[in-house]
Amino acid sequence: MILDFLDEVRRTCAAHQIEVRLQPTEAVHVLESAEGCAGYFDAKARVLAVAVRSASWMEVVAHEFGHAQQFIDDQYRDQTAWEVWDRWLNNGVDFSKSAVDSAVETILKCELDAERRAVGHMSRYGLCHDIPRYVAAANGDLLRYRYARKHRVWPEVPDVDWRGLCPSEFVPLEKLKLTRRVESFIKAAST
Ligand SMILES: [Zn+2]
Repeated sequence: MILDFLDEVRRTCAAHQIEVRLQPTEAVHVLESAEGCAGYFDAKARVLAVAVRSASWMEVVAHEFGHAQQFIDDQYRDQTAWEVWDRWLNNGVDFSKSAVDSAVETILKCELDAERRAVGHMSRYGLCHDIPRYVAAANGDLLRYRYARKHRVWPEVPDVDWRGLCPSEFVPLEKLKLTRRVESFIKAAST
């Protein structure tokens, strides 16, 4: 049940002074100047925000709550990997190959963990009618990081059915490869 899940989110967040904002909009903004997104967890501001006027808002709550739980569990609090990645990808700052590789692997581990937690919540509360489709899309999202690592450009891919392209179950990161097929799919979808 959705309400039971939201209740768990609110109670857990309240216990750790995290504000939950479910906004009646189509997008939320980390900063006023930032581009809109479906949702975010901001550890510094201690805010979990989700735009609820989108079809997949509940999945977004489940994912961002996964990040909030990581924060509560003292995981991924060091933001160095994200800073390196952002400066390398978006601001043209060069780092050693190993620094960028290690940054992207840290981010992938963090995202995979958040996705596993999200699927756990959705299964427990019966919130997702098609978990294999969700997991395939989650894997597709993770592979966008591998694509960005290779091409140094972030691929915006529209909402598509990733089944058949990506595994419909979670696999260890070393097995999640940017195959040629996935790479050309992302390239075609994002241009
Ligand atoms: Zn995430």
